[in-house]
Amino acid sequence: MERRVNARPRLVVVGGDAAGMSAASQARRARGGEDLEILAFERGRHTSYSACGIPYLVGGTVANPDDLVARDPATFARDFDIEVRTGTEVTAVDLERRCVTARGPDGTVATERYDQLMIATGAVPLRPELPGADAEGVFGVQTLDDGIALRAFLDDARPETAVVVGAGYIGLEMAEALVQRGVRVDLVDAGPEPMGTLDPDMGAEVREALVGMGVRVRLGERVTGLRTEGGRVRGVATDRGEYPAGVVVLGMGVRPNSDLARAAGLRIGPTGGIAVDARMRASAPGVYAAGDCVETFHRVSREPVAIALGTHANKQGRVAGTNIGGGYARFGGVLGTAITKVCGLEVARTGLNEAEAERAGFAFTTSVLRSTTRAGYYPGAKWMTVKLLAERRTGRLLGGQIVGWENAGKRIDVLATALWNGMAVEDVAGMDLGYAPPFSPVWDPVLIAARKLAEAAPEPRAG
Ligand SMILES: Cc1cc2nc3c(=O)[nH]c(=O)nc-3n(C[C@H](O)[C@H](O)[C@H](O)COP(=O)(O)OP(=O)(O)OC[C@H]3O[C@@H](n4cnc5c(N)ncnc54)[C@H](O)[C@@H]3O)c2cc1C
Repeated sequence: MERRVNARPRLVVVGGDAAGMSAASQARRARGGEDLEILAFERGRHTSYSACGIPYLVGGTVANPDDLVARDPATFARDFDIEVRTGTEVTAVDLERRCVTARGPDGTVATERYDQLMIATGAVPLRPELPGADAEGVFGVQTLDDGIALRAFLDDARPETAVVVGAGYIGLEMAEALVQRGVRVDLVDAGPEPMGTLDPDMGAEVREALVGMGVRVRLGERVTGLRTEGGRVRGVATDRGEYPAGVVVLGMGVRPNSDLARAAGLRIGPTGGIAVDARMRASAPGVYAAGDCVETFHRVSREPVAIALGTHANKQGRVAGTNIGGGYARFGGVLGTAITKVCGLEVARTGLNEAEAERAGFAFTTSVLRSTTRAGYYPGAKWMTVKLLAERRTGRLLGGQIVGWENAGKRIDVLATALWNGMAVEDVAGMDLGYAPPFSPVWDPVLIAARKLAEAAPEPRAG
């Protein structure tokens, strides 16, 4: 390949959503068009869309798919001088010659040079090989197009029954969306309780609430196949039974989409994500990676982790873009802080749960506190449960989980802040949090849970 002598340096971005376009925009803020050419490839139709909004599009809370698109290719071209080629898949990266091979919508294949490369290829949904999985009426919800297709199917076919496979947060959000549309939902998961990122005792609270909402929760069951008629899904078979399904939604988790990077010869970490340093640099000169396709480090366990969340993707993309643009930025790692809701029940977690703390080798104590979201006498007060983990020896907070109604969930940010700063539960218990009866009891549930744990754990000792 010929390298034009006087060509502008070029950044090529692979993947046009959260991480990729955050990096591209940030690089552009640092370096003008005359200084850096930016070319992004996106194999889908949309750029910078909110996958997180898909459940609300399907459920009808968000009416228009365009509302989920933060910036389309025309906006990137006009306002950022960034060229985006949609419908174009990058099929190979040549690290030696610094070029990518891309196949366009009409099948034409082009080779494009880069000086800097940003890999932001996201995640691959886990889909076991199930008989009938290709049938009409079976949907994943990974991309905006998936969400649009599912909503159109629900509008046209008006199914009365649905099976959601996978009771993680996406499964829960999809169950809510379907309940909102008046569809009867069976939620199937192989685990002992929904929300496997929580401890089972907290997951049990989610299960009880789901059952109260009319969702039929089928736990400890493995899906063995989908029953179809005339090419259309009619039911889901598990190792324990069969459930009717006019529509099936698969939310079985994801893995890092690091295949392109692996094939190019970039280093892949033990979690299967692309290995990067704190500046989001991959293992070859000029190559950066960010988002669901990379592995990062957990601030509490200090272990490498691959946790697919939009919060991480946006921040990592920004860090990469700053560095690509000639600045200096570092990504500080993750706590796995996450929040979701299902029909008004809020579920949140941060840091390590019991299984993760054990795996990381911590000796720890826990406290579980059931309290109310507002002062008990204030109208609308409902229950919420807080669970905390602290290191036995030092009293350091290791993790927190919250399940409860209205505004219970965002209290997780108090715990995430404490964790981020390595606080001991004794110090958390004394924090000056806001109080008025419509918002919390005078002792916020988070404070009481921390106090309970501080009383159980030995005092932190110097040295
Ligand atoms: C239904 C749903 C709900 C979610 N809710 C939340 C939430 O509430 N909170 C939260 O923090 N996170 C949430 N997430 C996760 C969040 O959306 C992702 O973590 C985030 O989108 C990751 O951004 P990314 O840029 O790394 O990857 P993606 O958003 O997946 O983008 C990767 C892009 O790369 C493109 N691509 C891949 N390979 C190629 C190639 N070879 N050539 C060209 N293009 C390619 C893909 O088409 C894709 O558009 C949710 C995800 C889903 C699916």
